Amino acid sequence: MHEITREWEQHLFQPEYIALYYSGELERRVERLEARLASCDICPRECGVNRLEGEHGFCHSGHLPIVAVVCPHHGEEPALSGSKGSGAVFFGNCNMNCVYCQNYQISQDWKKQQSKEMDSHTLAERMLYLQDELGCHNINFVSPSHFVPQLVRAVLEAVPMGLRLPLVYNTSSYDSIKSLKELDGIISVYLADLRYASNKWARRFSRVQDYVTHARRAIAEMYRQVGGLIVDESGLAQKGLIVRHLVLPNRLAGSGESLTWLVNEVSPAVTVSIMSQYFPAHRASQISLLARTISASEYSEVIKLVDELGLENGWVQEMGAQEDYLPDFERKAEPFLSIADT
Ligand code: SF4
Repeated sequence: MHEITREWEQHLFQPEYIALYYSGELERRVERLEARLASCDICPRECGVNRLEGEHGFCHSGHLPIVAVVCPHHGEEPALSGSKGSGAVFFGNCNMNCVYCQNYQISQDWKKQQSKEMDSHTLAERMLYLQDELGCHNINFVSPSHFVPQLVRAVLEAVPMGLRLPLVYNTSSYDSIKSLKELDGIISVYLADLRYASNKWARRFSRVQDYVTHARRAIAEMYRQVGGLIVDESGLAQKGLIVRHLVLPNRLAGSGESLTWLVNEVSPAVTVSIMSQYFPAHRASQISLLARTISASEYSEVIKLVDELGLENGWVQEMGAQEDYLPDFERKAEPFLSIADT
């Protein structure tokens, strides 16, 4: 695949959230988003619970952010990891429930995650640590869909402390358009999964009723906001959309349908990250359709399609070493110890 076009020189880039902070708009966004926690519709589940009063919906998350791990991540796409790592902020809990979740230790055990609640000022300090102490290239919010108000509140706190890095929204794409619109100008890079082309499989394996509609709408909105990927002179992402597609065994990811939709409805120039690293983690080993890694022929079928569709921007992960990509969140400082670059 081709290198991402280097347009850095034409964009004297400063993340837009700085201007939003000084205009007062960032604070207004926080107020609007936090008000919605009283009858939560932050994600498409629209549980309607009062998270400000400690009620829990599907994601089992209250009004404070739950931050499971903060660490440099060297296993993201090269434009994000660079040489010093992507500054990952792993939120606890999730608004999905994937039977094969690699992050199940922090996404699916909500009782254990409760002790990891953090106030927004502390989260802002952790972001500054990633920027100033570790020299990470961006702040990468992982599984943020149920914590959008808390994320924006932390950015509001972090700007006067000196935050200047591009912000990455690393999502399964089960996101509400109303919430995404509040992120317009705050998020520089959307790193969005396109998991399924079938609501049947999404229901069965991730406990979402209507994934395909919501994820496609969300990805279209993300592209409207940030467009194609722009990298700096070092090849580091500054702005744009990256769509991740994890190939599942037995064609369960609907790769043909999803990638065709992407080309026709988003853009053939969109940056994609095709991933071979599926591993039957969490409960997947008990489900026959998901109980194995993908085969070489399943993967080459998808790669051939990528070529045929003319998707030229992005990355294709090598086959093999799937277990190397499995994190262990008990190793808090370095959950991805053995990960190689994608
Ligand atoms: S963010 Fe959580 S409580 Fe709110 S709608 Fe989504 S799953 Fe329900």
